[in-house]
Amino acid sequence: MKLPPPESYQAFYKRSMTEPDAFWSEQAELIEWHKPFSRVCNYDNPPFVHWFEGGQTNLCHNAIDRHLSARGDQAALIHVSSETGLEKTYSFRELHAEVQRMAASLRELGVQKGDRVLIYMPMVAEAAFAMLACARIGAVHCVVFGGFASGSLASRIDDATPKVIVSADAGSRGGKVTPYKPLLDDALRLSSHKPDAVLLTDRGLAPMQLVAGRDRLWSDLRTRHLHAQVPCEWLDSTAISYTIYTSGTTGKPKGVQRDTGGYAVALAASMKHIFDSRAGETYFSTSDIGWVVGHSYIVYGPLIAGMATIMYEGLPTQGMDRQPDGGIWWSLVEKYRVTAMFSAPTAVRVLRKQDPALLQKYDLSSLRALYLAGEPLDEPTGRWIAEGLKVPVIDNYWQTETGWPLLTVANGVEQTPSKFGSPGIPMYGYRVKLLHEGTGEELTGAHEKGVVALEGPTPPGFMQTIWKDDARFVNTYWKSVPGKMVYNTFDWGIRDEDGYFFILGRTDDVINVAGHRMGTREIEESISGHPGVAEVAVVGVADALKGQVAMAFAVPRDASILSDAPAARALEGDIMKRVDGDLGAVARPSRVRFVTGLPKTRSGKLLRRAIQAVCEGRDAGDLTTLDDPAVLQQIRDQLAAG
Ligand code: ATP
Ligand code: MG
Repeated sequence: MKLPPPESYQAFYKRSMTEPDAFWSEQAELIEWHKPFSRVCNYDNPPFVHWFEGGQTNLCHNAIDRHLSARGDQAALIHVSSETGLEKTYSFRELHAEVQRMAASLRELGVQKGDRVLIYMPMVAEAAFAMLACARIGAVHCVVFGGFASGSLASRIDDATPKVIVSADAGSRGGKVTPYKPLLDDALRLSSHKPDAVLLTDRGLAPMQLVAGRDRLWSDLRTRHLHAQVPCEWLDSTAISYTIYTSGTTGKPKGVQRDTGGYAVALAASMKHIFDSRAGETYFSTSDIGWVVGHSYIVYGPLIAGMATIMYEGLPTQGMDRQPDGGIWWSLVEKYRVTAMFSAPTAVRVLRKQDPALLQKYDLSSLRALYLAGEPLDEPTGRWIAEGLKVPVIDNYWQTETGWPLLTVANGVEQTPSKFGSPGIPMYGYRVKLLHEGTGEELTGAHEKGVVALEGPTPPGFMQTIWKDDARFVNTYWKSVPGKMVYNTFDWGIRDEDGYFFILGRTDDVINVAGHRMGTREIEESISGHPGVAEVAVVGVADALKGQVAMAFAVPRDASILSDAPAARALEGDIMKRVDGDLGAVARPSRVRFVTGLPKTRSGKLLRRAIQAVCEGRDAGDLTTLDDPAVLQQIRDQLAAG
């Protein structure tokens, strides 16, 4: 029999645009439905989209139960912690049992279909059990990143109003234990909403004071429900699966709400077309379950695809013996024969400071590609890791809101070359436009700078709305471009003559120097290309004469520069010359200041708004997501020193 010729990506994409119903019906076959859908896409009330109406399915069924007959004994969840030294593999059958125990426990605590369960946990297997258990019984999970302190947690508790909170005694980072229970207790004192119960995993890391009548131990409930059989609730495709808050890089986090059927289909399709992955292989995402990458590509995506997924707790630079070891990730790739790996540029920059020989020490022959997302991937970092691993490095651009990549390459459809500095081309289902910020006019020429926007209907997997706030959803995302109802990504980009997009930064990272508009990203690219610079942030600072001036904060590769004023001056001059050459004198920063680190969110994103505020002598605003407050103080000190 002759196979039909493989479809080009161009044809595949075109089909998703011109025959979306047929296209997505075909993708919907990648998951199992309890009841078939009657309508593929309902876009009667823009910008709200309902995917696969009439259909019933379940995320947990697709992640676990459907694989039991063919691969019950295959590894499903591989949990590794270099913080505690624990390493444990759960087969699909074992995961099925654990998730049913968790589901029965949640039910015992009163959780019913539609109720919210807030999960505030470190990277322990129980966190994944809890997410999957919620999906199983139709409860809505709301995972709050374990690094957040009481204030951020309290506001999320009040927003989500959970029936039950699932948590643990403590998390650990780089060997430093952070007790979670006191943080949670504080948050519950601050919040107006109080849950009925708190279910706690005791890792034996920190003592816990249990509140009688409210706090329960997972170990107790688990034993009681050891043989629990909890069948999956069949849910409408449009039923809410979860809410998750955005990172908060630009301001107050938004509760992004997702559906069930559309999300399952979107993930299954992305595992095949974008991650080019197959059942039985191993996926390793180094993210955290507190972020969208953790939802889509630690828990649901790989499991739906029948893959084993690695859930790693620890730093990229710490071995299982808790000694420094920049090779830990690569040792996991070797040990578990990882085929696809997902990480962030910030993590690669950390590894780049380690011994380069570490990449040669392990057998990485199973690995086919490294996927990076979350922030712009600068060329030096991309090249370094691609050459070290000798596999393609695939940049992919998306947001908490989109749920899965919107710009990248789909090598599972057709091998497509990547370009350094570009996340790639529009993914199937996404109507990506570049619009003029002021007029909303569509920009079609190569290298024209515009706002990256999406025309509706947005594809399956995309956020349904902001939790409990349809008006904020519409007003924030769909009404900010003049004269058009389009989804605004709030990122700024260009497209080259081959249709590849380049993300220039967030729309609020644009600076205006004496009437010239520039993305801070362009200036950062130029500066980070200097061999003496490890990392840099550029912000626009108000200036009486020019409107704004660019100010750069750079982490030098050689730390001795920090205490050597003449050397710092020389490097500063050298960097300015470089920017002059690359972009012109107008882009030249007024100063380049040297610091040991840059202020970032716990997900590794640069908090430019905080740097900018400090430079302008304003209050730095909501800093609850800031990873290390000391680095902001360093910037204050630098500015004070003149
Ligand atoms: P908030 O919306 O609360 O300010 P956030 O935007 O940082 O937080 P996320 O949804 O985690 O929250 O991040 C998405 C953003 O990250 C994108 O809008 C974009 O600015 C950036 N980003 C993600 N991937 C890439 C990439 N491959 N290249 C460039 N930028 C990226
Ligand atoms: Mg955002």
